[in-house]
Amino acid sequence: MKKIIVWFRQDFRRADNPALHYAYQEGAHILPIYILDDENAGDWKRGAASRWWLHHSLKQFDKDLSGHLALFKGKADDILPKLAKQIGADGVVWNRCYEPWRIDRDKDIKSKLEDDGIEAKSFKGALIWEPWTIETKTGGPYKVFTPFYKNGCLGSGEPAEPLQAPERLTYLDKPSGVCTLDELSLLPDDVRWDQKMEQHWQIGEEGAWDALMDFIDAGASSYDEDRNRPDKDNTSRLSPHLHNGEISPRQIWHEIRKRQNAGALPDKHVKTYLSEIGWREFSYNLLYHFKERITDKPLMEKFEVFPWDKKKSALERWQKGQTGYPIVDAGMRQLWEEGWMHNRVRMIVGSFLVKHLLLHWSEGEKWFWDTLVDADLASNSASWQWVAGCGADAAPYFRIFNPITQGEKFDPNGDYTRKWVPELKDMPTKYLFKPWEADEDILKKAGVTLGETYPEPIVDHSEAREKALSAYDKVKKAG
Ligand code: FAD
Repeated sequence: MKKIIVWFRQDFRRADNPALHYAYQEGAHILPIYILDDENAGDWKRGAASRWWLHHSLKQFDKDLSGHLALFKGKADDILPKLAKQIGADGVVWNRCYEPWRIDRDKDIKSKLEDDGIEAKSFKGALIWEPWTIETKTGGPYKVFTPFYKNGCLGSGEPAEPLQAPERLTYLDKPSGVCTLDELSLLPDDVRWDQKMEQHWQIGEEGAWDALMDFIDAGASSYDEDRNRPDKDNTSRLSPHLHNGEISPRQIWHEIRKRQNAGALPDKHVKTYLSEIGWREFSYNLLYHFKERITDKPLMEKFEVFPWDKKKSALERWQKGQTGYPIVDAGMRQLWEEGWMHNRVRMIVGSFLVKHLLLHWSEGEKWFWDTLVDADLASNSASWQWVAGCGADAAPYFRIFNPITQGEKFDPNGDYTRKWVPELKDMPTKYLFKPWEADEDILKKAGVTLGETYPEPIVDHSEAREKALSAYDKVKKAG
C-alpha cells in the first residue's frame, strides 16, 4: 500500500480538502504533518494573535485526525525531503498557498522530492479562482475589482462542488523527530493577553461551520444593508477560519447558494456576500501578480514621494485606542481584546492613521499583522493600500473619512462605541463621537473629564484634513 505524507499548512479541515482527498482516494497510508517554518517566512512569520489561533487550530485538528498529526519546527525545505526518505514515502501532497516566500520554497521542495523519485503533488484548496487562471481580455492581470470579479470569476461559471470528508483514514505511525504542540511555543509566555480572546471564538472545522450557520440564521438575510453596522454583529466572522482553512471559500459559496436556491436568502444579500468572498480572491490576485509592490511599496508608484510623518507617540496612541476619537478608539480596543475588528471600523481606523496622523500605512499593516487573528498577507496589504489610496482600485486619497460622522452614521445609537469605550458610556449620543463639543455640565453629568478620564482629540479634524490634502498635492504633482 502507498505511503503518502499530507502536508497541512493553512487547510486544517477534513472536508473539501483536495490534498487529503487525493491521498484517501489513492487508498494510501497517510502521515499528516504540520511544519512551523518561521525561518522561510522571515518578516511574514505569523504575528502573535495569529500564532494563538494556530495553536488552538492545530490542537483541534489533531483531535479531528484521532491524534495522528505530526508536528515539526524548522525549514520545511530541509525537513520534508528528509522525512519523505526516512519513512519511505511514495508521495507528498499539499494544498497551494500564494505568499511569495511560500511559492519559492514550495517549488524548491517539489524539485528536491522529484529528484529523489518521490511524487510531489499540489492542489487548489484555499481559493476558488487561482490568480493565473483569471486574465483580462487582452491578457495580463486585472487591477480593478469589478471586471475581475464579474468577467473573470463569475464569467468562468459556478465553482465546482466541494469534496466530502474522507470516511476512514489509515495512518502511518508518527516518525522520530516530531515536536509536541507546546514545543512550537505559539502561545504568549509572559502576559497572557490571549485568555480574554478565548471567549470570542470557537476554533476549528466545527467552529467554522457553526459560525457559518449562525450567520445564515441571523446576519445573512440583511447583510447588504447591515454589514456596515459594527453595532449589529451582522457579518459572518469567518475570516480567521478562512485564513486557517478550517472552512474553504468553495464550501461557503455553495452553502450560501443552497439557501438562496431554497428561497431562504434573498438574492440581493447573497450577491453582496459572495462579492466579499470575491474581494478575498482579488487580494490574492494582487499579491500573486504584483508581489514586488504589495507589502511595503505602494502599488501606485507616485505615492513614493508622500511626506509621511514618523511620530512614534501618535502611533502608540492609535495602537492603544487613546486618540480621543471615540469610534477610532472603540475599534482599536475591539482589536486588542478580540483579535478582530469590524470591516467598517477597520476602514475608519486605517484612514485615521494614514490621513489624520499622516503615518505610513505599513505601520498600520504591521500592527494588524501582529494583533489580528485573521492576519492575512494578501487581504491585509491590499486593504491597507486601498485605505491609503495607493493600491489597486483604491479609495481616492482625497476622500478623507470624517471619524465623527462615520461614528454617527454607522453606530447611530452608540452601542458599539459605548461597549468598547466604557468611560463614555453615559455621554448623550449627540456628543458621543465629539465629546469635546459638549459643555462642562454635560461632561460632568456623564462623569467625563477630557484629558483625564478620556483623552483630548490627538488632532483637530479640520486641520488634519487640510494637512493631508496638501501632503497629497505632492503626490499629484509627482504623478
Ligand atoms: P464578512 O463581511 O462576513 O465577509 C466574508 C468574508 O469575505 C471574510 O471573512 C473575508 O474572507 C472576505 N472579505 C470581506 N471583506 C473583504 C475585504 N475587504 N478584503 C478581502 N476579503 C474580504 N481581512 C482578512 O481576512 N485579513 C486581514 O488581515 C485583513 N486586513 C484588513 C485591513 C484593513 C485596513 C481593512 C480595511 C480590511 C482588512 N481585511 C482583512 C478585510 C475585512 O475587513 C475582513 O475580511 C472582514 O472584516 C472579516 O470579517 P467577516 O469574516 O465577518 O467578513
